Amino acid sequence: MHAMKDLTTTLLVLGGGPGGYVAAIRAGQLGVPTILVEGVALGGTCLNIGCIPSKAFIHAAQAYEEARHQANGSPLGVRVQSPTLDLAQTVRWKDGIVERLTTGVGALLKKAGVRVIRGHARIVDGKTLEVHASDASDPVRIRCEHLLLATGSVPVELPGLPFGGPVISSTQALSPAALPRRLVVVGAGYIGLELGIAYRKMGAEVAVVEATEHVLPAYDAELTRPVLATLKRLGVVLHLGCSVQGLSADGKAVRVRTATADEFPLPADQVLVAAGRRPRTEGFGLEGLQLDMAGRSVKIDDQCRTSMRNVWAIGDLTGEPMLAHRAMAQGEMVAELVAGNQRRWAPAAIPAVCFTDPEVVVVGLNPTDAQTAGIDAVHAVFPFAANGRSMTLESTDGFVRVVARRDNHLVIGWQAVGRGVSELSAAFGQSIEMGARLEDVAGTIHAHPTLGEAVQEAALRALGHALHV
Ligand code: FAD
Ligand code: NAD
Repeated sequence: MHAMKDLTTTLLVLGGGPGGYVAAIRAGQLGVPTILVEGVALGGTCLNIGCIPSKAFIHAAQAYEEARHQANGSPLGVRVQSPTLDLAQTVRWKDGIVERLTTGVGALLKKAGVRVIRGHARIVDGKTLEVHASDASDPVRIRCEHLLLATGSVPVELPGLPFGGPVISSTQALSPAALPRRLVVVGAGYIGLELGIAYRKMGAEVAVVEATEHVLPAYDAELTRPVLATLKRLGVVLHLGCSVQGLSADGKAVRVRTATADEFPLPADQVLVAAGRRPRTEGFGLEGLQLDMAGRSVKIDDQCRTSMRNVWAIGDLTGEPMLAHRAMAQGEMVAELVAGNQRRWAPAAIPAVCFTDPEVVVVGLNPTDAQTAGIDAVHAVFPFAANGRSMTLESTDGFVRVVARRDNHLVIGWQAVGRGVSELSAAFGQSIEMGARLEDVAGTIHAHPTLGEAVQEAALRALGHALHV
């Protein structure tokens, strides 16, 4: 029989993902006594099985595909002979990055004076957690003044295709023991396309089944056109407007139903289900708090307060957009509020990047969003085909688009697709958050030759005087 240990603290953070660990670090920096409870690994989904490992995987796949491109008689004059991929080494390299980052998070928490308790937590009430430690030491009861819920999300399971055997989620897809010969991906969203493209580049045959008529349905058709072109070039087979029914009797194919209700088998050695994620609300006593919900997410106000006093919630648990940088920003805000500072959630925009080939970035409103919001807006596009740097990178597909109010030229949105555009998200986000006008962006000297010149040129074009197109 274990004895229960008792601890008390001011802020108790449940979940050590980007939301929870950032909240804890900031609270520690502000002198708030803080305990963080994590059941699996510091860094959460993002560092262990999400953002970071997927980007490592995508980079390795790209390096392999480039080596093969050179081997096939590159116009650059680089000559390489029959490159091969050592998948076990790729996974080890990826794991090494994860290890460095998660160890770093542990060190940052320690430096901030945060106590980390490893184990699965159960909510007793709005001020108490019970934690069963991972190392089988005595269970701990922790009482707090403020409880911050940051339990993240889990992959959606499809009724006909439960996880197990050949049916995997992104978690297994990021640590493969071997490459499947034929991979069927369900869902052409972020995960489906990021990982589907990487698997194809590594050598698997990839088919994607998507319920809507579009890949990356959250983005407009012009933005996704260069991604569609890559999918075609790589030979990724698309089944749009189709739904999956389940595995065939022999388990060697996915049964797919078309819009006209025909059914056909799609051969598969592995099936990656990437049909969205849902907040992690079950298995730790959350229902006992009877918090107000917004669908499947915990409902929060503009300070991340839940319907219960001094119980806060951040990150994927609070719904879309389920992005690591949103979780971190919410976490930082809650730490400040708990420390007694004045804060409110009012970002002008939250950037979103899809790390496909080429990359897609959206910040703020696109022309259709602006119209829907009743804003009289202008927009302009600058193509990378007219950008010198793009040519030297062998990648002239794509463009930068700016959206601004017609009356005062305030920039309200940016969209871009092209190689390396993820890094433009900083310039895009900053210009919107700082209230830049088209003239501000157009009047800033951008370094030559860079992709960033397309940002300046898009603004110039919206003003009617682009120089290089
Ligand atoms: P999580 O990161 O999910 O962390 C929650 C933590 O809480 C977990 O560590 C969990 O173990 C712990 N926990 C839960 N319940 C308990 C309990 N009862 N007791 C103890 N511990 C508990 N976002 C981006 O912005 N950019 C990307 O490029 C990107 N790529 C992604 C790629 C993939 C494959 C996936 C799956 C996701 C990706 N995301 C990306 C999304 C991003 O990972 C999430 O938005 C982010 O991790 C959410 O942070 P969070 O703190 O809310 O939750
Ligand atoms: P998603 O919402 O991006 O895409 C899911 C796709 O699956 C959609 O296109 C949807 O129409 C389709 N779909 C749903 N049910 C289906 C069915 N039964 N049959 C066929 N298609 C179906 O979700 P995801 O790709 O699983 O990613 C989950 C979340 O993780 C994202 O919402 C995002 O917030 C986060 N994420 C972000 C990044 C990034 O920022 N680069 C990368 C990966 C994941």
